[in-house]
Amino acid sequence: MGLIVQKFGGTSVANAERIQNVARIITDTYRQGNSVVAVLSAQGDTTDDLIEKAQEINPRASRREMDMLLSTGEQISCSLCAMAIEALGYPVVSLTGWQAGVQTNSTYSSAKIKKIRTERIQAELDRNHSIVIVTGFQGINKYDDITTLGRGGSDTSAVALAAALKADLCQIYTDVDGIYTADPRYVKGAKKLDEITFDEMLELASLGAQVLHNRSVEMAKKYRVNLEVLSSFTKKPGTKVKEVAKQMEKTQISGVAKDKNVARLALVNVEDKPGIAYKVFSLLGQKDINVDIILQSIGRGETQDISFTVKRSDADQAKELLEEHKASLGFDRIDVNKEVVKVSIVGAGMLENAGVAAKMFGALYDADINIHMISTSEIKVSVLLDESDANAAVQAIHDKFFEE
Ligand code: ASP
Ligand code: MG
Repeated sequence: MGLIVQKFGGTSVANAERIQNVARIITDTYRQGNSVVAVLSAQGDTTDDLIEKAQEINPRASRREMDMLLSTGEQISCSLCAMAIEALGYPVVSLTGWQAGVQTNSTYSSAKIKKIRTERIQAELDRNHSIVIVTGFQGINKYDDITTLGRGGSDTSAVALAAALKADLCQIYTDVDGIYTADPRYVKGAKKLDEITFDEMLELASLGAQVLHNRSVEMAKKYRVNLEVLSSFTKKPGTKVKEVAKQMEKTQISGVAKDKNVARLALVNVEDKPGIAYKVFSLLGQKDINVDIILQSIGRGETQDISFTVKRSDADQAKELLEEHKASLGFDRIDVNKEVVKVSIVGAGMLENAGVAAKMFGALYDADINIHMISTSEIKVSVLLDESDANAAVQAIHDKFFEE
């Protein structure tokens, strides 16, 4: 028994039947003696549909008005869910972000939560023993205007509320039943994890495993909110995300992820002298182009090559920018390859296990897959490969770590 925050995503509340299903999950939890705060997203594609409506009227609508519009999606799902709970005979109240005390900065459309004044929610829980339903994705700024937190922001609303209310658990209900060792849609033998650490989850999320909104995981880590990801469609246990997870001794890693949003740039025959790398990467930094893997070749007399990866969508801009400074940087040409992919293994236990990287490279060698670049961090090894090799590579690596 305790205080549980439950978040339900758009697919979980997409229609009347699903809202009734969610109402049952919430009231079951309440009946077991818990206080429940539920945070809901807008139904199904509502947010996309609202954006489309706005575009018909004014494709350049201000962000303030967009937030006024988009925040209505969550009001619909929350009030409907409260009605479903009323029908089941339980005390319930639905609250907007403003009523729930969610205070944000004033960056419309991607606001950050600054503080949550929990008095109202606390009163509803304590005095009225109500189930409290809160609109995800929205808050209010210092001008009393409605703000939204950016697409997918309801996860962050839920974690922020869990932190502010010092909840015992924050359950994120979605349409998958947890975090897997690889994307189960493409990888044979992908297994659901019982537990994963915040750090591993952050790596997997930024590598393209789209289960939780990244900001929500960062926030959960910071405020030590116990998270659980589970499906609203099945009754199976989900995956717990926490500070320290059970060691995966046998497998050494927690997952394999692939990220297609990468491109490799190579500066060929750059002058081999001090300050060149500094110049190249400051230029990119000034334009907010993030560089990921960097490789500098051994000099051949006067020159050397510098290759690096950026987001695929940044590749052309990065190339243009460097071309503009060709004279001062002194290189022959820039090669751009957008048909590459980054495949990574992630595991908190990696540090203590020598040979994890070698095992990954061995799997790729056995599958006859060529590696272009390698980078490592404390809990991650990434390789850059041809995009055509991506799926085979993920499968081969996954087999090596999880099938043996
Ligand atoms: N309804 C918002 C969106 O679709 C927020 C969310 O679903 O988390 O982005
Ligand atoms: Mg959504």
